[in-house]
Amino acid sequence: MNIVIIGAGLAGANAAQELRAQGHAGDITLVGTEPHPPYERPPLSKGLLLGTADPDSVFAHATSWYADHEVQLVTGSTVTDIDLDTCHVAIGDRLLSYDRLLLATGAHPRRLPGADASGAEVTYLRTLDDALALAPRLTEHLLVVGAGWIGLEVAAAARQAGGTVTVVENASAPLLGVLGPELAPVLADLHRDHGVDLRLGTAITAIERSGGRTTVRLDDGTDVHPDLVVVGIGAEPDDSLAVKAGLATDHGVLVDATLRADDPHVYAAGDVAQHDHPLLGRLRVEHWDTAIHQGRHAARAMLGNDEPYLRQPYFFTDQYDLGLEYVGHVGPSGYDEVVVRGDVDERRFTALWIHGDRVVAGMHVNDWATTDLLRALVGREADARVRDTAVALGDLGG
Ligand SMILES: Cc1cc2nc3c(=O)[nH]c(=O)nc-3n(C[C@H](O)[C@H](O)[C@H](O)COP(=O)(O)OP(=O)(O)OC[C@H]3O[C@@H](n4cnc5c(N)ncnc54)[C@H](O)[C@@H]3O)c2cc1C
Repeated sequence: MNIVIIGAGLAGANAAQELRAQGHAGDITLVGTEPHPPYERPPLSKGLLLGTADPDSVFAHATSWYADHEVQLVTGSTVTDIDLDTCHVAIGDRLLSYDRLLLATGAHPRRLPGADASGAEVTYLRTLDDALALAPRLTEHLLVVGAGWIGLEVAAAARQAGGTVTVVENASAPLLGVLGPELAPVLADLHRDHGVDLRLGTAITAIERSGGRTTVRLDDGTDVHPDLVVVGIGAEPDDSLAVKAGLATDHGVLVDATLRADDPHVYAAGDVAQHDHPLLGRLRVEHWDTAIHQGRHAARAMLGNDEPYLRQPYFFTDQYDLGLEYVGHVGPSGYDEVVVRGDVDERRFTALWIHGDRVVAGMHVNDWATTDLLRALVGREADARVRDTAVALGDLGG
């Protein structure tokens, strides 16, 4: 069986690895637009910016791994078309046939309207090359647009490098949608304590460049004059190829519980997949862990395994001396209660988000020993002991 994987990112690399691990002996071709072999993106906004990670350490596999495992890695090449009827993909004039096709095309940064044409220096952070270009600029004055994960990690790296950082965020707190009003202030305080000028509930009205100076006008009536504008306002799934091919999409490639698209030969995994999660409903997750595990799951599915993908989303971040892990998913219907154990002011605690009678998400801040406990609690019934902060997290197992 001949398998083509479009997108040489983390999902694609893990799919190729799992195909060989499962004993697949047929052809595997992994095609990627970027000039690099597949790499991990989390270090791009952390260790690579801070200078604590070597650029060579970010790659998913050693360079020799692809040849050693007879995986044909085609970098610097973009798949331009998929023909679902004849089971071919096109890379320009070159046609590749497939028996199974995996779409692992990921996502690209959402553009800030008016920014790119403003003449100001504006950058986005998605690729290794973006990170390598940004790293030497961190000692300058950065205006970070968006207090999401990537924006905050860039802010932290820049402050640690000695740069001046202004963060502009529309919402009244960073990551309000994920952390809620109870815990989002933890990150606001963290960044203010480290000297970030955090402008919450604030929007950009204009970005202008004149006389060699950038002016960013804010709706609070103030102007900021950064050297560089770093935009981190979310990502859009790279589903245009699937749309063009006529696959079912809705802000991502629609896949069933097993990660199969509405064509029996086609699967999707990672940032581009709109997954029908049996426990959580329709969900597209932009997390490192999901790219790895969906990539592997899709590989097994392409080989005939029809188990659903059930794993809960998982995310981590590191900012200054704060490390955080988050497991689970608060759906559109929200949560009723957050149960916090530990000391929020000291930034060492756990939190459980409860909806109805279930724990829907769990998080720790600087309490790394709790990761497995949180994983075990997510999805579980939120009984009186779970809600009782006098009962230690470690005692909830039984
Ligand atoms: C700066 C940064 C920091 C992050 N930090 C964290 C973190 O701390 N924790 C966490 O959980 N997650 C983090 N993430 C998210 C995580 O990295 C992504 O969820 C993950 O990389 C998604 O993997 P993927 O393989 O689905 O897509 P991608 O990594 O986007 O890979 C897709 C690849 O497909 C290629 N491609 C697209 N279209 C085509 C085509 N037509 N032909 C050929 N190739 C194509 C793209 O160029 C790309 O290289 C971070 C992301 C970024 C950008």
